[in-house]
Amino acid sequence: LQHRAIDAAGAEHLFRTELRIFGGQLLGLMLDLSETRRAAGDLRGRFEELVDSVDGIVWEARLGGRLSFVSRQAERMLGYPPNRWLDEPRFFAHRLHPADRDWVLRHGVEQAKAGKPFQLEFRMIAADGREVWLRNFITVSLDQAGAASLHGLIIDITASKLLESERDRLLVAERQARAAAEEAERRTNLLAEASRVLAGSLDYEATLERVAQLALPALADYSIVDLINELGALQRVAVAHADPALAPLARELRDRYPLDAGWPEGIAKVLRSGNAAVMPEISDQHLQTIARDAEHLRLLRELGSRSAVAAPLIARGRQLGIITLLYGASDRRYKPSDKALIEDLAGRAALAVDNARLYREAQEAIRARDEFLSIASHELRTPTTSLQLGVQSMLRFAQQGALDRAPAQLVQSVLETAERQSKRLGALVDKLMDVSRISAGKMQLELEPVDLCIQCREVANAFQAELAASGSTLQLELADSLVGEWDRSRVSQVLTNLVSNAVKYGQGNPIDLIAQREGDQAVVVVRDRGIGVPPERRTQIFERFERAVSARHYGGLGLGLYIVRQIVAALGGEIQLESELGKGSTFTVRLPLSRPARN
Ligand code: ADP
Repeated sequence: LQHRAIDAAGAEHLFRTELRIFGGQLLGLMLDLSETRRAAGDLRGRFEELVDSVDGIVWEARLGGRLSFVSRQAERMLGYPPNRWLDEPRFFAHRLHPADRDWVLRHGVEQAKAGKPFQLEFRMIAADGREVWLRNFITVSLDQAGAASLHGLIIDITASKLLESERDRLLVAERQARAAAEEAERRTNLLAEASRVLAGSLDYEATLERVAQLALPALADYSIVDLINELGALQRVAVAHADPALAPLARELRDRYPLDAGWPEGIAKVLRSGNAAVMPEISDQHLQTIARDAEHLRLLRELGSRSAVAAPLIARGRQLGIITLLYGASDRRYKPSDKALIEDLAGRAALAVDNARLYREAQEAIRARDEFLSIASHELRTPTTSLQLGVQSMLRFAQQGALDRAPAQLVQSVLETAERQSKRLGALVDKLMDVSRISAGKMQLELEPVDLCIQCREVANAFQAELAASGSTLQLELADSLVGEWDRSRVSQVLTNLVSNAVKYGQGNPIDLIAQREGDQAVVVVRDRGIGVPPERRTQIFERFERAVSARHYGGLGLGLYIVRQIVAALGGEIQLESELGKGSTFTVRLPLSRPARN
């Protein structure tokens, strides 16, 4: 029993009394505890004072058990009074930062079991919600019974942590700023260099090669340029590889696989959106799906196609084609952030391609015009010469005052020639004037009800002699009547030009002239079985002075189809050509039957 007792002087003493029953007797022993208590209380007071003066939380716990002691600094540092630390179950674990909780508890137990002093750094959430960085120094000791207890000191390292993270942040920011500046400089240099290289030539082919080389090796291991051709299809025009050893493979890819049939989806998307598309990672499986055959797959693999970006080539608002950049053997990959630079590069490339194309077109126009001038002067000279010869022979009679003695036959022949040649000259001059009028946008249409079938018959009649001379026959396949609001003489001009070409280029084979109605349109087909038109010339021959044959073999000014197309367009219609080289050509004209009278 522990109890108090009052001594004779009235002072209070604390006793421990032990009682025993021994042989039927009660024996007792009273021990005065007051002295021992006082001494222990003093010691404890001094200990707590010492512990509280430490700028850190001093604590004690059993391994795996609750805290058995925590200094008052715990409240000053984190805002929780010591009794909460001691009494609330799992108080420490619950106040740990969620991101640190698991590893701190796991690591703590492991280290404690190892028995050596150790340190832990972690965050706790203070009572006011602050995140506090702490460092915990822990020692482990074993009592006589072998049970482990832990002692520790926790200090607040938030300030130094903040400093550290601020320094890290500054370092990162500085590194980023430096990288951004370097990147910007690299871009500027690259683009400046690109512009310089591109400005180096106006030659079309050379420009395409330069465009393909542009991104190598800084932005690509190899690159492919596809352009939209006259027929509206994409055509592989240039390929370049940074590694000279692989360049022949790239060329093989260009020549044997003119366009990756497997990519049109991506390419179509790029063309549609006008934006570059990045494929950061291309798997071998993907290569297998796009390869057209085993050989194609081998080429793609050997070139190594790991990452790609396709950018549209746009100049003056027009899509010219696509440039595809690829990383092959290198470990580099395209990132979405590369898009802007590559689009910029593609824009400059497109401008160069466009300039080269315009230059080539201008050159070609000049060539066509020169050719036209020489042909035209030839065409004009022939009738003029024979006219002059006839006139001179008559003049000689006149100068001798012997006009009446000129043989009637000679006079008639001279006059006939004069009429024929002056007609020819007149027709030539008319045609030239027509072209210049049409080019100046001054075509006058006189709309009236016109029966196309009658026009066809008239034109067929007019060609009797020419047909007979060429050996061709003209097969008519006409509806009963096909009346529309058209300009009679212009419609006749269209038919005349098409039939005249069919006779001229038809190699004496049969020609069909078909006129039928299709809905609210009249469709005229002129089909010959002659020399045909090469695919790459099929759009051009509708331009002024453009021809697909040599002047040595076929005379002509290259104006007929130009005039035809202009008339058809003015009447609200369209003309199409289908042709197979050596097999013949089919021109199809579609004219709306009625159209508002405006020209
Ligand atoms: P021209 O016949 O006076 O040269 P066109 O404008 O009528 O001029 O025709 C332009 C070119 O188109 C011709 O030079 C020729 O190369 C080609 N062409 C036109 N019609 C045919 C056809 N029926 N068959 C083959 N080529 C043709």
